[in-house]
Amino acid sequence: MDYALSRKRMVEEQLMRRGISDRKVLELFGRVERHKFVPEGLRSSAYGDFPLAIGEGQTISQPYIVALMTESLRLRETDKVLEIGTGSGYQTVFLAELAKDVYTVEKYDSLSGRAKEIFDGLGYKNIKVRVGDGTDGWREFAPYDKIIVTAAATEVPKPLIEQLKAGGRLLIPIGERYSQVLTAVDKEKEGAREEKICGCVFVPLQGSYSCE
Ligand code: SAH
Repeated sequence: MDYALSRKRMVEEQLMRRGISDRKVLELFGRVERHKFVPEGLRSSAYGDFPLAIGEGQTISQPYIVALMTESLRLRETDKVLEIGTGSGYQTVFLAELAKDVYTVEKYDSLSGRAKEIFDGLGYKNIKVRVGDGTDGWREFAPYDKIIVTAAATEVPKPLIEQLKAGGRLLIPIGERYSQVLTAVDKEKEGAREEKICGCVFVPLQGSYSCE
């Protein structure tokens, strides 16, 4: 299996063709080894244009969605980022590459543990993981420049808006069980402005804001 070639094709056919244009983002998707983030039996499908099961009924998102979310966050080198839903850890490494520090919360111990092993193996020193309910955010390190939620909710959890800096951006899929809109929330000094990015389907965020 020529993974490098599969990655090159993924970047050209799934990302560039659909309008992902940020050079840094494209370069990273050509470099990060997605097959290391999926269960061994699924490696040959790692670069396909779809999500894959990663255990505990959860999924690694489709490459295009990960790229779109990465680009839509408008990351800066100085950013402190909070991620809710570590899952496989694939999205997390793009945050770690493009921002300063990443704090990532995952509900399942097994998934968080596996992701942490991968981060350590790849030498990332700027990712902190925690197991718990991410709808409460991670107060200890708040406020954050950017927040990304990779599971679907009925509305933006209040603690997350509170933990976002004024001028910061939050991304979250909002909607029903099988149909959501990827939504960006820009927090301003007074209030917040929402922007709808596109339709999407994520697994439900578990807890009080669940769309299940
Ligand atoms: N970005 C990840 C997406 C994983 S799917 C990837 O591409 O691999 C969404 C993840 O959110 C799952 O791992 C799920 O267990 C986690 N999750 C769901 N509800 C959560 C909650 N309340 N707190 C923390 N993590 C949660």
